[in-house]
Amino acid sequence: MAMTLPSLASPPAFIFSLFRRPTPNSSTTSETTTSIHCSASPSQPMDHPHSKKRVAVCGGGVIGVCTAYFLAKKGAAVTLIEKSSVACAASGKAGGFLALDWCDGGALSSLARASFNLHRSLSEELDGPEKYGYRPLTTLSLTVTESQTSTSPSRGSNSVLPSWVDGPAKSPRTIGSSETTAQVHPQLFTKTLLNKAVNDYGVEVVIGKVERVGGVEGGRVDAVVVEGGRVIEADAVVLALGPWSGKFEMLSSIFRVHGLKAHSIVVEPKEGAAITPHALFLSYYPAQGGKPLDPEVYPRPTGEVYLCGMSSEQEVPDNPEEISGDPASIQVLKRVARTVSSHLGEGEAQVKTEQACFLPCTDDSVPVIGEIPGAKGCYVATGHSCWGILNGPATGAALAELVIDGHASIVDLSRFSPARFVQRRKV
Ligand SMILES: Cc1cc2nc3c(=O)[nH]c(=O)nc-3n(C[C@H](O)[C@H](O)[C@H](O)COP(=O)(O)OP(=O)(O)OC[C@H]3O[C@@H](n4cnc5c(N)ncnc54)[C@H](O)[C@@H]3O)c2cc1C
Repeated sequence: MAMTLPSLASPPAFIFSLFRRPTPNSSTTSETTTSIHCSASPSQPMDHPHSKKRVAVCGGGVIGVCTAYFLAKKGAAVTLIEKSSVACAASGKAGGFLALDWCDGGALSSLARASFNLHRSLSEELDGPEKYGYRPLTTLSLTVTESQTSTSPSRGSNSVLPSWVDGPAKSPRTIGSSETTAQVHPQLFTKTLLNKAVNDYGVEVVIGKVERVGGVEGGRVDAVVVEGGRVIEADAVVLALGPWSGKFEMLSSIFRVHGLKAHSIVVEPKEGAAITPHALFLSYYPAQGGKPLDPEVYPRPTGEVYLCGMSSEQEVPDNPEEISGDPASIQVLKRVARTVSSHLGEGEAQVKTEQACFLPCTDDSVPVIGEIPGAKGCYVATGHSCWGILNGPATGAALAELVIDGHASIVDLSRFSPARFVQRRKV
C-alpha cells in the first residue's frame, strides 16, 4: 500500500485507492443468543486450578477471541481482558469477506489457507449459517463509472452480473467461486466464538484497560495490570490489541503499528430477496474525475448490503467507542450504493449503519505473531490489516500451540515473529 501521511493538524486528505485488498491474479443472520459473562469488579485472585496454564489474553477483537478460544480448548485457564466491549472495533465493523487463495504467493498464504478451512469447520461446529451468516459467495470484479448513471450494464448473454447490479457496470469478471470465497458477519462470528469459549471451555471475560504486563523485568511475565490496579496473575500473556498495539509501549518500542481508518455503511433494501450472494470488488470512477476508488460490496444473508472503502491514515483515538465516520466518506459510499444498483438507492433502501474503524497495519504489511523478544511468556498477535477476520482462526490456533506446546504446527509462525524487527535494527 502506498500511503501519504495526512497532517494531523488539518482535516485528513482522503486517499481514494488505499483500501485495496489484493485480488487474485490475475441466514438468516439472526441476532446471536450470545450472552457473555463479564466481570468488572475489583480483583480477587483467579481461582483457576494451578495445574492449568493460566493465560491472559488482552484485547477482545477477533484475534484475541480466536486465541482465547483455541487456548481454552487446549486446556488453558484463559482470562480475556477487553477495555471497551467485545468486537467493538474493526472486528465488529468489517466486511467479513473470506478468501482461500487470494494471499497465495505471499507471506500470508499458509495462514490464509489454514484459516479459510478453519472457518468452514468452525461454521459446522457453531452453526455458522444460522448464528453468524456464514455462507459461500461468488465474487466479481467490475468497473463502474459514476457519470454514466443512465447507462445500463454491459450485460451480454453470458454476463456473470446478477440482475440486481443494474447500474453502469463494465468488464465484469468472476474472481472467486463458492469454493474459494465466503463470508461471515464479523461481530456475530466473534461473539458466537467467545460465547462458546465461555460456556464450554470456561473462559473468563474481564472489562478493563490493560496498562502493563508484570514480571518482564524479572525475565518472565507473571501478570497483567488493569487500570485501577487490578492484577491478573498469568503464566503467559497474549497482547492482541489491534491498532492500539502502537500505543502500548512494550510493543511500540519494538515495532510500529499504525491505524488506517476505513468507512462502511449497511443498507437495507426493500427487496432484500432480490440481492443474490455475489460480493463485488469495484473500480469506481467518481463523476468529478480523479483516480478510481476501490469500494467493496458484500450482500448479507439477511438481505442487507454492506459497503466499505474510503481509507486514510489517521491517529487512532484512545476510546474505540469514539470512532465515527467522516461525513464526506459516508456520502461517497452512499453514491456508490445507488450507482451500482437501483435496489440500493434512496427510496429503495434504508441506510441502517454509518461507521468507521481502524485497520491495524505494520510497516512490512505482514502480521506480527509470536513471542516478544526479551519478554519470556509474553506473546503478540496484531497487524492483520484487511485480512483479520479471515486470518483470526489460524492465528489463534497457531498461537495456542506456541503458548501451550512451545511450537506451532498448523502454520509456520517464523515469518511472523516480532524478532524480525529487532534483527533489522541490528543490521
Ligand atoms: C472497513 C473494514 C473492512 C474490513 N473487511 C474485512 C474483511 O472483509 N475480511 C477480513 O478478513 N478482514 C477485514 N477487515 C480487517 C479486520 O477487521 C481486522 O484485521 C481485524 O478486525 C483486526 O482484529 P484485531 O482483533 O487485531 O483488532 P480490533 O478488532 O481492533 O480489536 C482490538 C481490541 O483490543 C481492545 N484494546 C485495545 N487496547 C486495549 C487495552 N489496553 N486493554 C484491553 N483491551 C484493549 C480494543 O478495545 C479492541 O476491542 C476489515 C477492516 C475494516 C476497517
